[in-house]
Amino acid sequence: MIKYIPELTDIVLEEIPDKVTLAVEISNCRGSCLGCHSPFLKNDIGEELTPAVVDRLIADNFGVNCFLLLGEGKDKDALLRIAAYLKDKYPRIERAVYSGRQEVDPEFYEAFDYVKVGPYIAECGPLNERTTNQRLYYHREDITSRFWHKGLDPNR
Ligand code: SF4
Repeated sequence: MIKYIPELTDIVLEEIPDKVTLAVEISNCRGSCLGCHSPFLKNDIGEELTPAVVDRLIADNFGVNCFLLLGEGKDKDALLRIAAYLKDKYPRIERAVYSGRQEVDPEFYEAFDYVKVGPYIAECGPLNERTTNQRLYYHREDITSRFWHKGLDPNR
């Protein structure tokens, strides 16, 4: 089972380049980021993310073209089942997952269009900073630099 935090579900425009993304926060995080910005997500909290919940969230947020799981939880099979459900039922909505781990299982790259890896390290910064240690892949291609278009420093 994977759980999400209903009250933190939101439409986001920055997390996945050029996408209108419905983002759900997943609890039971198994990351160990030293600079963890959301330690409460390590707890077993929230509600189960089921296919019926996915249906409702998408119906309530008509027009999104990406579904992002912010976190992967501890139940890989359940996570991959949700990804497979999305792919079957909503083929026009791309699937994304943010992991706090340095590497994820190879199946993630088959199940999701976008995969973000790397723990959050405060001094390196998040994806939109050139110093970041994190990486976002689209179909296994590293597209992290697409976050750096805004605020470019011409001297760098
Ligand atoms: S991925 Fe890292 S920053 Fe995010 S909740 Fe887990 S430990 Fe914290």
